[in-house]
Amino acid sequence: MSMERQNMLRSSGIAPDKQFAQGPVLALAPVERRILGAVVRAGSLTRAEIARELRLSRSNLSPIILRLMADGLLAPAGQDESRGGRRGDLLSAPGPESAVVAGLEIDVDRLRIVVATLGMRPVAERYQRVDAANDPEQTLETLTDLLETSLEEDWGPVVGVGISLPAAIDVVTGAAAVAPAMPKWVGFPVAERLAYRFGTRVFVDSDLNTLALAEMTVPHHPPLGSAFLVVKATEGIGCGIVINNAVFRGSHGSAGEIGHISVDPDDETICACGHRGCLEALVAPVNLAAQAQLLARQEQTALRPPLDGDSVNMNAISRAAFDGDPIATLLMRRLGMRIGFVLAGAISFFNPSSIVVSTAGMLGSDVLMGAIRQGIYERAFPGVTRRLQIVESGLGDDAVVIGAGALARDGFLGTAGKVAYSRGLSAAPERV
Ligand SMILES: [Zn+2]
Repeated sequence: MSMERQNMLRSSGIAPDKQFAQGPVLALAPVERRILGAVVRAGSLTRAEIARELRLSRSNLSPIILRLMADGLLAPAGQDESRGGRRGDLLSAPGPESAVVAGLEIDVDRLRIVVATLGMRPVAERYQRVDAANDPEQTLETLTDLLETSLEEDWGPVVGVGISLPAAIDVVTGAAAVAPAMPKWVGFPVAERLAYRFGTRVFVDSDLNTLALAEMTVPHHPPLGSAFLVVKATEGIGCGIVINNAVFRGSHGSAGEIGHISVDPDDETICACGHRGCLEALVAPVNLAAQAQLLARQEQTALRPPLDGDSVNMNAISRAAFDGDPIATLLMRRLGMRIGFVLAGAISFFNPSSIVVSTAGMLGSDVLMGAIRQGIYERAFPGVTRRLQIVESGLGDDAVVIGAGALARDGFLGTAGKVAYSRGLSAAPERV
């Protein structure tokens, strides 16, 4: 690392926990961030391509590239063989020895961690079941231990940590502002505490927005376009919104809460948000069990376990549908249609180019996907479905944690937009 950068880090006054010697926050000048960002997005670029994309002269670019290479933040990646004529030397994002980012997924009953390179290549993963909803303090302890054990000594500094919470996030404090699924996390200073502990910038966003970031990180064929929705269709229902290649979070971080759109004003079931008749209330375990019972009576078919018990949830229902259970299949179709109807409204309003449905790798998701498609085509304004692409996410259960890693990377590169981060470190010095 260059002397200049080291001095700047010292003057930042950042004092990470002494037990954790992964090194200080790396601060980049805006032009360095733009260059690194362009290389990370493309995978690899030649100097000429970087100059063209960022509209920089080769003479201005050269010393900056050399500095980034000296700091190990750009790595040589062979020659560009794709075109004839003079071949250019390719540059790519560095390996874990120069810098890593960490993505943390905190959900009601589990923690997941991915440590990745700036190019989003995972180098370590951790998973643990915890009672996160009821015990933020213990969860933070476990999370800290898990992250520490997932880092190797010969890696570079953790230049950013991204956290996903099933909550709307206060963009000033980095804490959950509205969290029906995890009310004890409202105001809990998870970003502040992790930033202090690890001496790095911590970015926090909702699981819906991290899902959207994850889909922006992986290639899609055909491409998703510049305006698309990423729908979470698991035990929770919601939607990440991408407009002009950036996540749209709304004025207070609550955009995309389609799970709390009322689908049945006569339904008296109380949703976790406190209202009645929400789409998400339909997939609450108590409701799923009741619907399964009702369907079984109507169809005069015996319920098969696990539909007839306390453990009925979306996963159990979809597994049963996958195994050919008629009641489970009917229930999945009905739920998919309801989700499709709500999406039809969102699509008619928003006219996206694509919808990606994240089922977290649910077994039997094809039944749900078919019904979602049908619901959309039945109820959406015809003009908006003509060229609409509806696909299931290929990221499976990894989507949220990958998105959290992408949030950390985008935060480090300064392209994360308006996301929450720890106040204490937000004023890290910038080189000009
Ligand atoms: Zn609700």
